Amino acid sequence: MDNIHMVDLYVQYVKIKEEIDKAIFSVLESSAFINGPEVTLFTEELSQYLGGSFVVPCANGTDAIQIALMSLDLKRGDEVLVPNFTYVATAEVIALLGLTPVFIDVDADTFNISVKNIRRKISKKTKAIISVHLYGQCAEMETILQIANELNLFIVEDTAQSLGAKYKFSNGRTCNAGTIGDFGITSFFPSKNLGCYGDGGALITNKEELAIKARMIANHGQKVKYYHDVIGCNSRLDSIQAAILRVKLRYLDQYTEARRRAAEVYDHALNDIPNLNLPSRVAYSDHVFNQYTIKIQTEPTSNFNLRDQVKSKLATYGIPSMIYYPLPLHLQKAFMKSGSEIEKFPVSDVLSHSVLSLPIHPEITLSQQEFIIEKLHLAMK
Ligand SMILES: *Cc1c(COP(=O)(O)O)cnc(C)c1O
Repeated sequence: MDNIHMVDLYVQYVKIKEEIDKAIFSVLESSAFINGPEVTLFTEELSQYLGGSFVVPCANGTDAIQIALMSLDLKRGDEVLVPNFTYVATAEVIALLGLTPVFIDVDADTFNISVKNIRRKISKKTKAIISVHLYGQCAEMETILQIANELNLFIVEDTAQSLGAKYKFSNGRTCNAGTIGDFGITSFFPSKNLGCYGDGGALITNKEELAIKARMIANHGQKVKYYHDVIGCNSRLDSIQAAILRVKLRYLDQYTEARRRAAEVYDHALNDIPNLNLPSRVAYSDHVFNQYTIKIQTEPTSNFNLRDQVKSKLATYGIPSMIYYPLPLHLQKAFMKSGSEIEKFPVSDVLSHSVLSLPIHPEITLSQQEFIIEKLHLAMK
């Protein structure tokens, strides 16, 4: 079987090469490399795609989280609730800003923040919740919104893996992921569902005053050049990336459909394997499958880990797979407080030993998937 990748950016590029090359060359011709018209146009087009929410472009998804928290005027020592089973970026900037990350265990089926666990972690210092829509499926936003409204907390949605997903409220209203809280953030890292050819990110908000503030903070705290109202940072989406993103945004829904079709192929072919759980689907969110993540049940007490063995066996056939994430955040050295007892997070502990993400991307072929499926059956025997 020819090269199977977790994402195949080259094959994707070749399919849209003409449009991409033209977009890149037009930026070269205009030489408007920073804050050029392509950035403004992309910002407007993404805003339209998201149903009119304000969009503030920035340099990457991690910066977007930082700028969101800075725009909400959180103060040193304020607590921010965050799932402990996510990419480090979500929690890293909380700590970087002198705020305190308070970890919440996740749900074993959805991998997202467990709303049952939120209330008992709330204190007088709690000011915000960052909910992550992990792997492409939204967290339970309706309950999170209720808790936040009741206790006056801000909500930031980390939509880095789920741009294009839709959330459905119990009254039938649907919202784009990232447009429900005070801020949504996203990343255009190449492997995300809307990826550029370098780094990029954006904030999303329905509140104009927050959009203005975020734009100012991302631009050295200035509204007028050389007049700095607040301490900000320098975080820009560059024009070449914006031009690429304008092309790829037009394909995003098509790419999402292709990811969903690939997920269905896996679902049907893998549902009869003992000790293997498919990714769950929930009524309140669709899934955009940035990752297709299965769980391979393994005896937590023994040293042998079936998931790790399956991963190595797949690798011998040239099939890549990834563990997102091998160590929950509460066990990362960077977040462990010396001398204090290690808190227990039973679900994320188990997940870190059992999750396995299989190759999924819009360009994956049926024969590649059939090969992966056949070898996965073998590896699970
Ligand atoms: C990718 C990612 C980020 C950070 O995005 P960068 O653009 O790499 O900074 C944040 N949160 C999650 C969940 C991500 O997957």
